[in-house]
Amino acid sequence: MLDLLERGPVFMGSIDNFERSEVVLIGAPMEVTVSFRPGTRKGPEQIRLVSPGLEEYSLDLNRDLADCCYYDAGDVVLPPGTLQESLRRIGAVTAKVLSSSKFPLVIGGEHLVSLAVIKEVARVYPELAVIQLDAHADLREDYLGERYSHATVMRRVADLVGGENIYQLGIRSGTREEIEFGRKHTNLFFNELIQPLQEIIPLLKGRPVYVTLDIDVVDPAYAPGTGAAEPCGCTSREIIRALHLLGGINVVGFDLVEVSPVYDFSERTALLAAKLVREAILSFSRRP
Ligand code: MN
Ligand code: MN
Repeated sequence: MLDLLERGPVFMGSIDNFERSEVVLIGAPMEVTVSFRPGTRKGPEQIRLVSPGLEEYSLDLNRDLADCCYYDAGDVVLPPGTLQESLRRIGAVTAKVLSSSKFPLVIGGEHLVSLAVIKEVARVYPELAVIQLDAHADLREDYLGERYSHATVMRRVADLVGGENIYQLGIRSGTREEIEFGRKHTNLFFNELIQPLQEIIPLLKGRPVYVTLDIDVVDPAYAPGTGAAEPCGCTSREIIRALHLLGGINVVGFDLVEVSPVYDFSERTALLAAKLVREAILSFSRRP
């Protein structure tokens, strides 16, 4: 597994030992199917780079990264321009993390990386439910003839785990066909995060849950650094609150995707993403 990874500067507070870790952070700088604005391949690097600007202690959670064993394993080395090989490598690294009974926390990269990760997580947890926080439904059957794309990722996840096990929150953009598909086959919640989470969390108690967070669920005022920015999203405070609520259920894997430093002149998106990664590590790790 380690030969598939390249470890440079790490996210703040990482221990230096894979074996001892409970949560493993993996960078997946894949950017192959991006259609609108580029830059997500630089997401993991930039999120790590700005992370020391934040504290390792979370005031909301009263926990510190030093309290939990998390390990930044570096980036998956991806042959440029390859789709299936990139997904295979991201899947292989995820499988290794899972087989070591550790929690995979993946930073994209474009949203399609989630498919490779969820495929492995669903193998380990057949009862898996998936929560997507995103401005876009990502439910196209194909995009410009391509079945594997950031715009089709949740449709492919539906093929894997069944649409009825997918909960889509914060959605405010899609084609008529996508929304009709979602209304029929998945659990679609428009615009809001907190109220739908309060509704579905009791239903998911005891079940293994995977959470995929597309940064564009947040309003471009707070997170402009993304490829397909979509107005009328949630605030930075709401997305943090959503992670804290999710800390109350059995989350078994998490990814944060679509941060594009190219459109992030003030670094506010990367800083928010770094804070979300910190809160995810602290919310989803179980060891005291
Ligand atoms: Mn999106
Ligand atoms: Mn997406």
